Amino acid sequence: MSDLTKLTIWDDPAIRSALSWYLDVAENRRPAKFRIAATVATEFDPAEENEDALWAEFDRLTPLFLARWQAIRAGGQLPPAAEGPSLLELSRELAYRMLSHCNFCPWHCRVDRVAGAKFGACKLASGSRVSSHFHHTGEELFYRGTQGSGTIFFTSCNMRCAFCQNGDISTDKDNGEETDPRTLAAMAWTLRREGCHNINWVGGEVVIHLHAIVDAIALLGRDFTPGPGELAQARRTKADRFLWFDEAPDAAVYDGAFNAPMLWNSNFFMTPESMKILRILTDVWLPDFKFGPGRCAMNLAKTPRYWETVTTTSRCSKRGARISPSATW
Ligand code: SF4
Repeated sequence: MSDLTKLTIWDDPAIRSALSWYLDVAENRRPAKFRIAATVATEFDPAEENEDALWAEFDRLTPLFLARWQAIRAGGQLPPAAEGPSLLELSRELAYRMLSHCNFCPWHCRVDRVAGAKFGACKLASGSRVSSHFHHTGEELFYRGTQGSGTIFFTSCNMRCAFCQNGDISTDKDNGEETDPRTLAAMAWTLRREGCHNINWVGGEVVIHLHAIVDAIALLGRDFTPGPGELAQARRTKADRFLWFDEAPDAAVYDGAFNAPMLWNSNFFMTPESMKILRILTDVWLPDFKFGPGRCAMNLAKTPRYWETVTTTSRCSKRGARISPSATW
């Protein structure tokens, strides 16, 4: 049992009930959802199919994933990871397909961010930059715990909030260091082994980096171990690199492989398609809801339909699936 479990906040039955999955994964009593997704096999070669076929397969596999997740929540064993492609690789492929006609968020810019000739509202091509990553001791108590939340800050944003507390990174897309998925995975791997209770993906806004994050999570789900070069590259943005943290590899493992709860810390201005992928991979949500109904989102953040988006992404209009970040997901 870690110090996280010892916090008296867990004595509150409502908190314990709402966050039971997160706590179980943080304590390595259960595998993270990305580990479960790696066990749901597909016979598709994701690289060979068109996007509609990939979504159809994703929709077919999602109920299988959900049933497996519920069984594990109830105490069932984690099956072996699929030897071939799985729901994890399918998620990664779909995120990259979306990148080529970007619809990660409701701006629906439809720009080809792989080509990078035109930019959408987030001003990004396919590259992702990290401003900093570190043991965040300023998050909510159940996330920061005693060892901190393993937080990775990305640059740029899809909103223009006049009051942004991270304006230096959300408005400057060139802040920080260009970071590939293997370096991102190395950051998460290190933070968790140093004792962080979770991996906290945040910005700016994170959904605009969906492809890189899903790719990094997919690596972590497949026995990823960073090399010296990747560790050195990751260390360039580690804000607390001059502090010493004892590594405790056993605190980052479930059933012999890497384990950590994935925390999605977002303004939730995202499309149903993005949410469909994220619900497979996210163990706990930190929705940063910024505006209610009315014109505040337009006046203060130049963002149309914010309230409508964050209150209607509980349904996927195109494919009819529920996508709420509810307690059951
Ligand atoms: S992430 Fe959003 S703002 Fe950026 S290009 Fe895609 S749809 Fe546009």
